Amino acid sequence: MIAERRPLIAANWKMNKTVAEAEDFLAQLLGEVDGLGAEVVVCPPATALAAAIAATRESEVEIAAQTMHFEAGGAYTGEISAPMLIELGAWGVILGHSERRQYFCETDEALAKKLPAALEAGLVPILCVGESEAERDAGETEGVLERQLATDLAAVPEGRLSEVVVAYEPIWAIGTGRTATEEQAQDACAFIRSQLERLGPAAAEAVRILYGGSMKPANAVQLLAQPDIDGGLVGGAALDPGDFAAICRAGSG
Ligand code: PEP
Repeated sequence: MIAERRPLIAANWKMNKTVAEAEDFLAQLLGEVDGLGAEVVVCPPATALAAAIAATRESEVEIAAQTMHFEAGGAYTGEISAPMLIELGAWGVILGHSERRQYFCETDEALAKKLPAALEAGLVPILCVGESEAERDAGETEGVLERQLATDLAAVPEGRLSEVVVAYEPIWAIGTGRTATEEQAQDACAFIRSQLERLGPAAAEAVRILYGGSMKPANAVQLLAQPDIDGGLVGGAALDPGDFAAICRAGSG
């Protein structure tokens, strides 16, 4: 990655960790990661957001949510909005994770509304894109990425594109133990940057692009050394503070 892009390592806990477990994890993590070159972000479930924000107030670790609605408020049972997350003190929000697309019918059209809503409220959106195994086998990886990026980012003002973080998460590598090779990950991230150049030429070089999919301490160094990979979105390995801290160190060069 180029020096101007600060590496970012984010933990996606998914539907894991109670408040007590989140506090315990953060108590172990904080001493290990403050002062690192990489920006460290933890994304707990909604129930642990407030406790995680309180626990990290004196540290450099940032807390982000795992999803949000595009409206600021209204009759959307079970949802949370960007202004609610800002009020809590959240730094950002994951949008378009493949599990939300697959199990909760999140569409590119909804994401096109969520991206500007997050930015307008003051949240950093971490937009996840990536192809399924069948799409990769059919040679459709670039087509899928192009379509997702063009639709999801369509309403982001060009002047704010550099604030978006994009996570390349090949679906076949998520939670499977099957990691993309460094070459596959770099090629996809370079392609994503080329698409960002079409959307906002001035911003593309500043956008941080993360790799996600079975990243662990043993493969993080090689993946994070690729020129277009600016960090990682980590699921399984981010449930253990020691493993996650090791990946954060790998991301700090
Ligand atoms: C994820 O779900 O964002 C992810 C990358 O998961 P894992 O690291 O477990 O593959």
